[in-house]
Amino acid sequence: MTRQITETTNVDPPPPRESIRALLRRRRRGVGRFRGIQYWLRVRGYYFLAAFAGLFVVNAVVIGGRVAYDVTLQIDSPWDTSSPALALPLSLAGWLVVTGFAGAVAGYVVTEVTDNRNIGRMRGRGNARRIALIPLLDRLQYRRHGFEVPHYFGIRFALRHDGDWARAQDHWEIIVEKFLNAAESDRTHGPRQAMWQAVLEASYVLDGMSGKCPVCEETAAKGEGRTDARQ
Ligand SMILES: [Zn+2]
Repeated sequence: MTRQITETTNVDPPPPRESIRALLRRRRRGVGRFRGIQYWLRVRGYYFLAAFAGLFVVNAVVIGGRVAYDVTLQIDSPWDTSSPALALPLSLAGWLVVTGFAGAVAGYVVTEVTDNRNIGRMRGRGNARRIALIPLLDRLQYRRHGFEVPHYFGIRFALRHDGDWARAQDHWEIIVEKFLNAAESDRTHGPRQAMWQAVLEASYVLDGMSGKCPVCEETAAKGEGRTDARQ
């Protein structure tokens, strides 16, 4: 157990600016606020789109770009092409993309409207727009972040990490992600409301705990104390 000299600990300098990598990690960890097809599109949708694009290119080479386009949009039957074996999967995938996309847009509009209404009712209109990703700990210091957290929660959580804001932020995101995923069964909450709720619960649970944060204790229990190893 290494103990730094605590006299030199200084939380006055602002935390370092968030790097692109840290932002992407924060985005990924907050994806649990979405439900159903919206969640699926964000997690797996890119693979499906890539596979679809690949299928289209192969078809364009074999049966011609214009025919491939017509098959994708259900204008042409795949059986009328020179290679039905290739054109049939493209036709099915095209149908899935078009209907899936329309369904996702409709679902998005519905949840966005109800979500904004619900969160707006709770927090006031201006604050609703600020709620999206897992919040940065240092942003929670300011009044207009739209979340409900204990007083001085951000700075006190950073102090539990000897003023290491980056490590505190990392652990804070891990914990909020767990709360987001634990609430998975509750499908009535839109993404903003789910995030708002997870931040509320995580911050008050952490505030009620004494001593170190649970992620620190978990890594310490593994014997190493290496926090960078967990991605
Ligand atoms: Zn920690």
